[in-house]
Amino acid sequence: MTENSSRTRTWRVGAVLCAAGAAPAGPHEIAVGPDGCIADLLPVSPEDLTREEASLIAMPALANAHDHGRGLPTLACGIADAPLEQWMVNLARQPKVDPYDTAALAFARMAGSGIGAVYHCHNTQVGSALLQEAEAVSRAARDVGIRVAFGWPFFDANPMVYGSHAALAEMFPPQQREAVATMDRALRDCATNMALFDEARAFEHAGFALHYHPVAPQWAKPETLRAIARASAETGRRVHTHLLETRLQREWADHHFPDGFVNWLDAMGLLSPRLTVAHGVWLRRDEIDLLAQRGVTVSVNVSSNLRLRSGLPPLSDMQSGKVPFGLGLDGMALDDDQDMLRELRLAHLMLTQPCRHEEGPVARPDATATLHAAWEDGRRAILGADGGGRITAGAPADILFLDRVAMASDYLEGLPADPEWLLSRATRAHVAHLLVAGREVVRHGRVAGVDEAALQDRLVAAARAARAKSPPDAGQISLTAEATLAFYAKGLHCGEA
Ligand SMILES: [Zn+2]
Repeated sequence: MTENSSRTRTWRVGAVLCAAGAAPAGPHEIAVGPDGCIADLLPVSPEDLTREEASLIAMPALANAHDHGRGLPTLACGIADAPLEQWMVNLARQPKVDPYDTAALAFARMAGSGIGAVYHCHNTQVGSALLQEAEAVSRAARDVGIRVAFGWPFFDANPMVYGSHAALAEMFPPQQREAVATMDRALRDCATNMALFDEARAFEHAGFALHYHPVAPQWAKPETLRAIARASAETGRRVHTHLLETRLQREWADHHFPDGFVNWLDAMGLLSPRLTVAHGVWLRRDEIDLLAQRGVTVSVNVSSNLRLRSGLPPLSDMQSGKVPFGLGLDGMALDDDQDMLRELRLAHLMLTQPCRHEEGPVARPDATATLHAAWEDGRRAILGADGGGRITAGAPADILFLDRVAMASDYLEGLPADPEWLLSRATRAHVAHLLVAGREVVRHGRVAGVDEAALQDRLVAAARAARAKSPPDAGQISLTAEATLAFYAKGLHCGEA
């Protein structure tokens, strides 16, 4: 990399993938202006490249379209992967740790796997400390240097199960029933939360923006969803919600909205090009078509769906229904390592399997849909239409450089440039550099803005100390697990609203 007097920096690479669907281009010089955008892209002669430059392939930085920014993975907290509703009960095992450290470590890991932008659905550790936690996440975003959309949580319904907490209370010992039946009273109401949201706007900066995040339709009151739809229409701010992640959520929705659940969301004005819905595992084809008509984006989280036994996302329906979709890790990557490149591989393999009704010639696998999700549609769910997700003059300089020599050390000839080849093997181990708005967020595989190893040591030590000081109430957790299991087994989520 060289720097000249106008502070335009140039990067030379052996190959470039400029956009999803475009053929790989050969050796190029990419100029990045002081405004953080790509100033120019010029072909160069292969002889002018060093060995290291020739090894690099440049492409748009990846977008992680749904995550929760957990520096300490749930497995580390002793929370086994299990169906979502059972897994969530065990989240009470998470120790309370510093919100800056947990977000900074999560963002650093993401940067190290080539992620330049993330949608962060915030789960509070301490509900009353949401404002302070948001400030800490904002600082972590600035220090690490990736772009973060912060999903401001609106959670004011069904705290423990989808349905009547009075019915759930019957599953608990008599002395706990009152508290279980009335636990929703402790949830923050929409008006108070909107006022806090306005205060938190002070934490916004070029790499950190607030979005409305009704956690899911079953976890927000209808009037809260309506207020968010109105606020989004007035301000243009984006909305992001979990939607139909599990079979139990599908059953709850079908029983409570017999005239159509997604239609109901549409009638209150929630479906718009500003909306992203996460998961959508149990969406039906007509619902996917309606989302597509309204310009809604889906965030698909394949590894998370597999690990939490939610089911397989209906990718072929999404593809044929032409609903835009991005890809997310949801903090639950296949190998629990936040490897976005491996997530791309998994999504790509799923997207290119044959369908049972297919006939005629067998198509060659095409990486376009996967890369479009990872570069453009996922990014739009996070940042709106900012012209990014492409390597072209004028676009934000959010660029991922992979080391092809490291990736292809056993190849008999040549270095891969075809995206199909890259998706077959690339992992976070091959991330050489990452630029976000022209800033070197990762240099030679190391995150520049924070000390990732020190953060990890500090976070694990603090979590162990917190665990020793106040161990989880294992008895209460298993009581709650049994009660919720019995609630759903009796079909009470399909009972009275
Ligand atoms: Zn999630």
